[in-house]
Amino acid sequence: MYDYLIVGTGLFGAVFAREATDKGYKCLVIDRRKNVGGNVYTERVEGINVHKFGAHIFHTNDSKVWEYVNRFATFNRFTNSPVARYKDEMYSLPFNMYTFNKMWGVKTPDEAKEIIEAQKNAIKGEPSNLEEQAISLVGWDIYGKLIKEYTEKQWGRDCKDLPPFIIKRLPVRFTFDNNYFDALYQGIPMGGYTKMVERMLEGIDVILGEDYLENREKWEGKAKKTVYTGPIDAFFDYRLGNLEYRSLKFETEVLDKPNYQGNAVVNYTDKSVPWTRIIEHKWFEFGKDENGRELPKTVISREFPSEWKVGDEPYYPVNDEKNNNLYQEYKTLADNETNVIFGGRLGEYKYYDMDKVIASALEKSSAVR
Ligand code: UDP
Repeated sequence: MYDYLIVGTGLFGAVFAREATDKGYKCLVIDRRKNVGGNVYTERVEGINVHKFGAHIFHTNDSKVWEYVNRFATFNRFTNSPVARYKDEMYSLPFNMYTFNKMWGVKTPDEAKEIIEAQKNAIKGEPSNLEEQAISLVGWDIYGKLIKEYTEKQWGRDCKDLPPFIIKRLPVRFTFDNNYFDALYQGIPMGGYTKMVERMLEGIDVILGEDYLENREKWEGKAKKTVYTGPIDAFFDYRLGNLEYRSLKFETEVLDKPNYQGNAVVNYTDKSVPWTRIIEHKWFEFGKDENGRELPKTVISREFPSEWKVGDEPYYPVNDEKNNNLYQEYKTLADNETNVIFGGRLGEYKYYDMDKVIASALEKSSAVR
């Protein structure tokens, strides 16, 4: 008999399993997929660690989380500086002096602020949706070229129907600084995320290719308690209706050339292009293998968002009011399941970054008895 059955080998499951095991509890971890890591899973192709389920760039301000992940991997010095392409124009991200200079020809922070102040005049009071929030942060022009169409592709919803917090994930700064994140610590685990998660799970029983929801009784019979990191609505058989998610499809190609786009991430911000971004995976590790040799080929992935339906992989919770209210109802059901801990992006229906997932797993596992 195990103490904990942990459903899902993503970051929440792996960290919880590590911590509970180190406290002396016996854990069994299972995953529906044939690989560990959940959506941070990376796979090696042509010497390149390919982020199979979308780009993951680790960043945090939490020194405890940073020290924790460094126990399982060495992080490189990668800094995310995506480029936005709107038709034939290229802009720096996040929104900073390079972006403002390209957009308006301004050279100083005062000049940039003057334009934004004039453009955001139409927005009165506290922004109530993503459109108002975006315009009040960066003005009409940037909203029109770099936010509106990208966001509507990404979320499949009008910017007026999306919550403001989504755009507040991006920094706006009046300095010449293309670092996408405001984070003290940032990097990519050398050798890939899969290795990092494998190290977290070292010495712990893991069974892959097993779907907990398809055979619940069998799995629950194996442990005293369960940690569930799948979608919370699926756990309850969608009995209150389904929560909405955005899904993604990736088209990945190996190209017989060393450099396709000169950057790890290029966002396509106009709606005439169906994908939201192209990831060129080798640049997460500077285009070199672990021996410092330049890699002759490259691997790129185009990312296509879509509305989630049963059978698709859920990636992003749609945290608008309607879904948050429904989630609260599921949360009430979850709170009554005293033998089950719900965690992670899907278990808590929350647009968590990796560091926040780890912090939450550390917190929840520290409370285990
Ligand atoms: N966003 C945008 N234009 C961009 C990049 C991002 O409008 O070029 C908006 C979009 O609404 C997106 C949100 O900012 O959903 C958050 O972006 P982030 O890069 O944090 O999203 P993730 O990498 O998690 O998909």
